[in-house]
Amino acid sequence: MSSVRKPDWLKSRPPSGREFADIRETLRERNLHTVCEEANCPNLGECWSGRSSSRRGSAGEHAGGDGDPPAGEGGGTATFMLMGDRCSRGCNFCDVETGGMEPLDPDEPENVAEAVAEIGLDYVVLTSVDRDDLPDQGAGHFAETIREIKARHPGILVEVLIPDFQGEERLVRKIIDADPDVIAHNVETVSRLQYPVRDRRAGYEQSLSVLAQVERESDTYTKTSIMLGHGEYDHEVYQTLADCRERGVDIVTLGQYLRPSRSHLEVQRYDHPDKYETWRQVAEEELGFLYCASGPMVRSSYKAGELFVDAVLR
Ligand code: SF4
Ligand code: SF4
Repeated sequence: MSSVRKPDWLKSRPPSGREFADIRETLRERNLHTVCEEANCPNLGECWSGRSSSRRGSAGEHAGGDGDPPAGEGGGTATFMLMGDRCSRGCNFCDVETGGMEPLDPDEPENVAEAVAEIGLDYVVLTSVDRDDLPDQGAGHFAETIREIKARHPGILVEVLIPDFQGEERLVRKIIDADPDVIAHNVETVSRLQYPVRDRRAGYEQSLSVLAQVERESDTYTKTSIMLGHGEYDHEVYQTLADCRERGVDIVTLGQYLRPSRSHLEVQRYDHPDKYETWRQVAEEELGFLYCASGPMVRSSYKAGELFVDAVLR
């Protein structure tokens, strides 16, 4: 299919301003990465410049990332990407570089905890690249970062967007045992399109089993995200939502896939914001998700803290 034209509702604000510069400096000083930058997220200007309009901030998204900004204030969000800026996998929608893996930075857990304090966050989102090259695929390092943040900032809410750890339950359990408040893992797309959208090592059933394990073995809230625009049919999106709900997933986000470069998958369709609103209603009112953030610019971590607190804790 030839490229479809990008509609007007996908315009985003370019990053600018003092807060943007401050967060960037804090991250550079500590050699930290964010999905916001690595995945070239279209919400960067809004998320990183919004801290003054809300006390609550959040930092964290599995590289990739997409919703319609819900009404309300900007919250100031950044998503820390742990374990480097190179991934052992190569998903065809994702802008993170593949291969050339570096050793883990042992200071990263502490550096992230310090950056959380400096930026002034009370809701943190952490994600990582996939590290299939490491014996524990990085699960221990991820868990240590959660613990470090929680130890230094009692009361802080931590959301993690984790890899599938190749479905190894003992590795997922390391994350559960570190006691984050939300554990997210993205199914990314409908069953039929898993490949070519995702790396061949990922898979629909494997991702559902990770979510089901978290639900089974913890009281943590579970979350997943679906990108639209890869050529999926409505009945497939509905089935994906239903499959996630059947595994007990509490929160879901839906957003438009945007092509990072000409070497990535083409966008097959842009859905109107009204369509996203319909999916939100289906997810919340018919299928019973605690909440659904749905819109063309929504990404897994978009306003994660504000939405979680509004929908779950209030
Ligand atoms: Fe970062 Fe998520 Fe905001 Fe994108 S939506 S800029 S990944 S916090
Ligand atoms: Fe990107 Fe796929 Fe790696 Fe996640 S696993 S960082 S989506 S290439």
